[in-house]
Amino acid sequence: MTCRETKNLLNAYVDGELDSAGSISVEAHVQACPSCLADVENLHALALSIQNGTLRYEAPRNLKGNVHAAIRAANPAVRHSSWNGRWAAAFGMAALVVLAVWGLGRQQAISSQEALLVDDIVSSHVRSMMANHITDVASSDSHTVKPWFGGKLDYSPPTKDLTEQGFRLIGGRLDYLENRPVAALVYQRSQHFINLFVWPSAGTRIKPEDQIVRQGYNIIHWTKSGMTYWLVSELNWTELTECARLLNE
Ligand SMILES: [Zn+2]
Repeated sequence: MTCRETKNLLNAYVDGELDSAGSISVEAHVQACPSCLADVENLHALALSIQNGTLRYEAPRNLKGNVHAAIRAANPAVRHSSWNGRWAAAFGMAALVVLAVWGLGRQQAISSQEALLVDDIVSSHVRSMMANHITDVASSDSHTVKPWFGGKLDYSPPTKDLTEQGFRLIGGRLDYLENRPVAALVYQRSQHFINLFVWPSAGTRIKPEDQIVRQGYNIIHWTKSGMTYWLVSELNWTELTECARLLNE
């Protein structure tokens, strides 16, 4: 993929609107191209700024006085007392609008934060398969995988083997999400790989039954005993839900 083709797709890529083939192509190019990588980082930074409100414009403090003076100049007949009443009404209305917009902004900020995390999870999943680096420790024995994480993480991830149920544990890997190292447990169902990311966290408002699809991958999220779980795979929704149910048992 050329730079020009990639740059045309970057907005859709950052917004998670590309199909899996498209996003893999873009991801591959971006990993090898500092210019496109910088563009991706700028787009993420822009999204964050909008979300954090750092781009929000605050009206100067003397605006109220200026508006007051302008209205008085344009309409000398307006009596001061009634003007005050109107101003109060208008100000109250504006405050309501500001509160409504603030509430909306806050709600969107939370969900776009979750959306960024989902993007990171999908990217980690895609990268683990692209870089041929799906596992750091390859073993279907949970008694081998679990101790491998000891000393690498400050928590012990549950390492459930589901081979008998058709989801073979093939190993584990260290990954990096939400600014911390996290455990990735890797399962295989026929030719499909499944990454289970686990770390201690309060989780999100997303429920396990919320069907999240991003860039052609299915994602299931749940929280249990102070741990947050993210299951991601190209596997179909029914089988991935079954996998989540077995892991959650
Ligand atoms: Zn490029």
